[in-house]
Amino acid sequence: MTTILIIEDEPELVKVLRSYLERENFKVLKAYRGDTGLKLWEQENPDLVLLDLNLPGMNGLDVARKIRRQADTPIIMLTARVEETDQLIGLELGADDYVTKPFSPRVVVAKVRAVLRRAESAPQEFEVLKVGDIEINIEAHTVTQEDVKVDWTPTEFTILHTMAAYPGRAFSRLQLLEAAQEGIVYEGYERTIDTHIKNLRSKLEKDPKNPAYIETVFGIGYRFSSSK
Ligand code: CA
Repeated sequence: MTTILIIEDEPELVKVLRSYLERENFKVLKAYRGDTGLKLWEQENPDLVLLDLNLPGMNGLDVARKIRRQADTPIIMLTARVEETDQLIGLELGADDYVTKPFSPRVVVAKVRAVLRRAESAPQEFEVLKVGDIEINIEAHTVTQEDVKVDWTPTEFTILHTMAAYPGRAFSRLQLLEAAQEGIVYEGYERTIDTHIKNLRSKLEKDPKNPAYIETVFGIGYRFSSSK
């Protein structure tokens, strides 16, 4: 049975989400505080976490950070409209998606399903990744398109590999920069990613102005198309 952990301090919200999720045959665990939620996550190893931002005990961003340090458990943030910056930070911390309050429980259930599907289909490790007509060979560090080898810089390779491993997932510029520079990130340099993306598109896309592979996610960054 797929287990969902809800960490949310509004009992009414927890109740509604819980009943919708249980109706869809999910097993539901709940915590009303950040610190107890994190403890429950450690004990129960749920398949997905629905995580509120403003929580007593420990705030949602810290909970997300601590989970990410240890595991890839999918996280969907539950945020209020005023917390747009927090949504971005949440995604930078590795949250998989977010829903804005007030939300329809149906939307939350649909997002839970979509994120779980993505998590299942995303391989943790692979040697050759085939997406559409592109083949990325991790060992050999090569990319071929329609069987023709394409030349890439190491940075471009890392950015492409990072995104293509999780089709449909949005990556912030900071996340891509971190991946490309192996953790050494200079503040204010996020926009250099745009240059790399531009180069990637010119090599990869048939029509770089209407990219089919590397999509722009407005206000966040980029994602590799999931329809490939
Ligand atoms: Ca709250």
